Amino acid sequence: MSLIKVCAVSKSYEGGDGAVEALTNINLEIREGEFLALMGPSGSGKSTLLSILGGLNPPTSGKLIIDDIDVYALNSERLADFRHEYVGFVFQQYQLIPYLTALENVMLPLSITSRSGKEQRDMAQTVLAKVGLGTKSLRLPNQLSGGEQNRVAIARAIVNRPAIIFADEPTGSLDSKTAKELLELFQALNQDGLTIIMVTHNQENLAWVTRAIYIRDGFLSQIPQEF
Ligand code: ADP
Ligand code: ADP
Repeated sequence: MSLIKVCAVSKSYEGGDGAVEALTNINLEIREGEFLALMGPSGSGKSTLLSILGGLNPPTSGKLIIDDIDVYALNSERLADFRHEYVGFVFQQYQLIPYLTALENVMLPLSITSRSGKEQRDMAQTVLAKVGLGTKSLRLPNQLSGGEQNRVAIARAIVNRPAIIFADEPTGSLDSKTAKELLELFQALNQDGLTIIMVTHNQENLAWVTRAIYIRDGFLSQIPQEF
């Protein structure tokens, strides 16, 4: 059964010089447990598709069905609940808060839940240990390496135990050793049952994924293209 169904999704943005059609008639099914790479040249619509899949950006037409829920038919309050329950984001523009420790950063998504402070700290400490930062949880982001900061961002994305992780160019700014560690972590999480959807430019990352899809000029294809 498909976890995610994208049905005839199109998206246009209004600009000063007229509308830009970022996505055209996208149809896509993603099964639970896939580790999917979303590839394509700059400006092809990858970030737009990722934000639509994550419940952050309503399409102009078409539907997104996740776990039988018609996501954009939800009102804004239920849509926010849906995001909290189902999705975690590892986005470059959604970085760590510099004056909070790694532990406090990871606790943030739990702060709106009814869990006690101790329970929140325990859950955050457990996921930090899982990403290999159990002994560094009281450090501030600037006391961690870039790769470690990335792992804190991943811990924050998974602490709520979402079904799906969305990652936008997660290896983009990493050296090859750190990138490999991040992909190994994603692979381990994927083998634990998490569905992962990752935007990437890097052909080498394809060795890690279970499937790749390609976008060009807002159109989807399953077949590799030359970039
Ligand atoms: P990619 O992630 O592949 O680089 P994007 O999804 O960011 O592509 O962009 C696809 C197209 O939509 C581009 O032409 C881009 O300029 C346009 N676009 C993206 N976001 C917006 C926005 N918020 N307003 C207007 N145009 C946008
Ligand atoms: P809140 O209820 O705290 O306002 P939202 O409903 O806006 O949170 O978002 C739910 C989750 O979606 C957040 O925990 C965050 O991880 C993610 N999120 C929201 N907006 C963005 C964004 N623009 N980029 C990346 N992730 C986002």
